[in-house]
Amino acid sequence: MPAPDPSLTRYSRQFILPALGEAGQRRLMTSRALVVGAGALGCTALDHLARAGVGRITVVDRDIVEHTNLQRQTLFDEADANAALPKAIAARNRLSRVNSTIHIDAVIADLTPENAESLVATHRPNLILDGTDNLDTRYLLNDLAVKHAIPLVYAGVIATRGMQLTILPHTACLRCVFPEPSAAAHVETCDTVGVLGPAVAIAASLQAAEAIRVLGTDAAALASSPPPSLTEFDLATSRFRTLDLRKLHAPAARALCQCCGTRQFEFLSGSRPRPAASLCGSGAFQIHAAAPRTLALPALGSQLARLGPVQANEFFVRLHPRDGVELTVFADARAIIRGVETEAEARALYDRYVGG
Ligand SMILES: [Zn+2]
Repeated sequence: MPAPDPSLTRYSRQFILPALGEAGQRRLMTSRALVVGAGALGCTALDHLARAGVGRITVVDRDIVEHTNLQRQTLFDEADANAALPKAIAARNRLSRVNSTIHIDAVIADLTPENAESLVATHRPNLILDGTDNLDTRYLLNDLAVKHAIPLVYAGVIATRGMQLTILPHTACLRCVFPEPSAAAHVETCDTVGVLGPAVAIAASLQAAEAIRVLGTDAAALASSPPPSLTEFDLATSRFRTLDLRKLHAPAARALCQCCGTRQFEFLSGSRPRPAASLCGSGAFQIHAAAPRTLALPALGSQLARLGPVQANEFFVRLHPRDGVELTVFADARAIIRGVETEAEARALYDRYVGG
């Protein structure tokens, strides 16, 4: 019998599972996952993937750790919130202490049609895990995954309810199941109706289990594996159910899909107008730069410091234009404005302090 490989020892409880095995573990260790969103879903999924030994993980997130995140975003602690660290950086710091044998890249950015393709070209993921909480990004990720034939592991959570779906190159995509972003989901968000931490943890664990299954399975076996079902649950009633998507997976049904059928990648090509601003919490708006540009943060920091106290680090510049209002500007010329009532008010502050 050959001697056990010491690099595998830490994963012994996992690869003795017949579904994974030593060969599956080696596949995980040489695979690359792109995790978009390091909020509640992303945190739990990332923790599982790092511990499972996924060899290279890229974390993309646009936000900063806040105290209100700590209820459910399990990679972060009070020190991260006090230091106002970007979530991508705080997640990388934590995950590299969890598993120093893997490589973690942190990208502080909002996923957009402009940067999505270059993220794939640079990081060459074998799998994308959707940890976001906004519809525009989810449909953009679906376009990106289908176009490049990369498996996509999707989940969504609200209040006590959640769902999980895995999209493989040979199966129905998100738009086969939900052809258009739902108007209701734009209104009902975790900020307006709340979210239970354990509900997120369940959805994210379903995602992580799917990611380990997909990355640990060889390509030929995966292509002939039974198409995934959609899992739904509600912790208020302790009910789980599985929806059989066989009809939607059928090639005749998929041929009608705008994304995986006719391959019009509307969200990725930018032909769908992307809002110039998006709601990111109650009383908070993110304003996007009109055109891609990079700000010199130190110069902006000293310019704004003439107007009042600023908080600045290598990732952002923050100031309080007036009591209760906070403006945070990132190097990619995005800004998050908190404490305002309307998008117009947020836009006005952006124009005044960041400019076009
Ligand atoms: Zn489709």
